[in-house]
Formats: sequence, structure tokens, C-alpha cells
Amino acid sequence: MTTTETVEPYALFRATVVRTSQVTPRLRRITFRGPDLAGMASAGLDQRIKLFFPPPGHDEPVVPEGENWYAEFRAMPDDVRPAIRTYTVRDFRPDALELDVDIVLHGDGHAGSGPGASWAGRAAVGDRVAILAPDARHTPILGYEFKPPADTAWSLVAGDETALPAITAIVESLPSGRQALVFVEVDSLAEVTPMPSAADVVLTWLSRAGAPAVGGGLLRAAIGRTTFPQGRPYAWLAGESSAITDLRRHLVNERDIDKELVYFSGYWLLGSAIE
Ligand SMILES: Cc1cc2nc3c(=O)[nH]c(=O)nc-3n(C[C@H](O)[C@H](O)[C@H](O)COP(=O)(O)OP(=O)(O)OC[C@H]3O[C@@H](n4cnc5c(N)ncnc54)[C@H](O)[C@@H]3O)c2cc1C
Repeated sequence: MTTTETVEPYALFRATVVRTSQVTPRLRRITFRGPDLAGMASAGLDQRIKLFFPPPGHDEPVVPEGENWYAEFRAMPDDVRPAIRTYTVRDFRPDALELDVDIVLHGDGHAGSGPGASWAGRAAVGDRVAILAPDARHTPILGYEFKPPADTAWSLVAGDETALPAITAIVESLPSGRQALVFVEVDSLAEVTPMPSAADVVLTWLSRAGAPAVGGGLLRAAIGRTTFPQGRPYAWLAGESSAITDLRRHLVNERDIDKELVYFSGYWLLGSAIE
């Protein structure tokens, strides 16, 4: 008899909020736990996952399972279908079956901020979500992008607060002896968090001093006036889409960095909800 099993790169896991903490005034850490997480994997770094948030008034998200789950999901009535948003694994502790996700409370953190920020603003112990994340049975782990070539001489890591979980994990992972220039744009200096590393890191925090998160060009201006180290770079950029596209253009067109050595991702787009 043949028993067939197929393993997809990603699987759906259910988990419950077991702790919440305010990392900074605008960054809320949600710790999830659940037996399902025994089957999850994370590559660390900028590992992305998708969270399914139940609509207000529902205790847990209704997510169809099985092969055609996505088509069934799309066909669900609007008032039942969960919102899906993308986040980063800030820390995964498989032994404790615990996962930390740090969520930016943009807007006022309530209605109008989008379903992700408003769910995070009101999240309480016992709330339940579904998580689309790498399946531990699948090799390789997918869904992370920080992949500097072996001959990288120095790294440029830059982004806004939505990229802070990824940037912190990336910087923590850099080896001793690696040079890195790190730039993080935040709402105010109250958002500054520790970023330990064995590497030789020059970290610059850029404060918007409460100004809107779009159009200021703080990252572009600060990086534009920075003298880069010698040798082959690797750049990782993530945050508000127009700022990151502009920054990538600067690196490739004005600083002559090979575009293959610049990873960039628009983590959010003004006026748009990105699943
Ligand atoms: C790979 C990846 C990893 C990510 N990791 C994280 C993470 O770890 N933590 C995190 O907080 N976010 C992260 N994000 C960004 C997050 O997915 C978006 O900010 C998302 O739009 C939040 O959903 P929402 O429901 O709160 O708002 P939405 O419903 O998507 O948007 C509602 C409105 O809010 C605006 N908006 C969305 N985000 C912001 C913001 N940060 N500041 C100001 N206005 C905003 C939109 O432009 C829109 O007008 C990540 C995105 C990607 C693609």
C-alpha cells in the first residue's frame, strides 16, 4: 500500500495570544502560543508570515482548510472573511511553542488604522488568529530575503518602523567582523529600541518628529550624505513603498551599486491595504 503525503512550503497554524507588551509607544509585541506551532518553521531574519485577523465581534478567524481554501476564502461574505496582513517573525521559540510579532500601531491604533493595527491595538490574552507560515516539514524554508552573497564586504540595512522587527533580527544575526550601516526611520525618538550585534554596526535613527510617514525622504537624505565603505556591498531596504523605491534608485543610479545586490520591498503603500 502506498500512502502519499504532499508538503507545501507554507501551512496554516492556529494560535492564541498569551502576552502583549508595548515595546515602544507605537510598537506592540503580541506573543502567540499553541500546539500547532510545533509544525512551524522560521528562518529568522526577515521571515514573513501572514496573519488572519477575525472581524470585530468574532473570537477567532474562520479560515477554510484544504486544497481550495483560498478560493473558498475569497468567496466568504465580507462580514465574516478575516483580514489578511503580512508581518515579520520577531522571535520564534519552538520549544516553548511561542511566536512574537511586533505590530506598528499606525494611525490612532483603532478603527481607520486598518484591520491589522486596530486588531493589535485591542489584542488581549485569549484572542485567536490563524497564521500562514513555513511548514517545518518543507525544505528549504521560504519567505525570507536577506541573502547577502558570500563575498559581501559590508551591508546597508534601511527601513521604517514596519521593517524594524526584520532589521533588528538581521542586525542581531550579523557576524563579528562584518561592517554594516543601518538606518531606521521612526515616528519619534521614543521608538528607539536596543539593537545588539556582534558586527561592526553604525546605527542611525531618523525621527520624523511626529510628521506623516510619507514624503519626508529622511532615509534618502541621510544615506545620500553618507560615505560608503570600500568593497562589495549588499543592501536590504524595506518600508513605505515610494520612499524605498526612491532609495533603491539612488543606490543603483547615483551610487553605482549593482541592482542585483539591492533587495528592496514596499512594506506598505499610502492609501492602500496590502494583503
Ligand atoms: C514582508 C512584510 C513584512 C512586514 N512586517 C511587518 C511587521 O513586522 N510589523 C508591522 O507593523 N508591519 C509589517 N509590515 C507592514 C504591514 O503589513 C502594513 O503596514 C499593513 O498595511 C498593515 O495593515 P493594517 O491593516 O494595519 O493597515 P491597512 O488596512 O493595510 O492600511 C490602512 C491604511 O493605513 C496605511 N498604513 C498602513 N501601514 C502604515 C504604517 N505603518 N504607517 C502609516 N500608515 C500605514 C495604508 O496606507 C492605508 O491607507 C510588513 C509588510 C510586508 C510586506
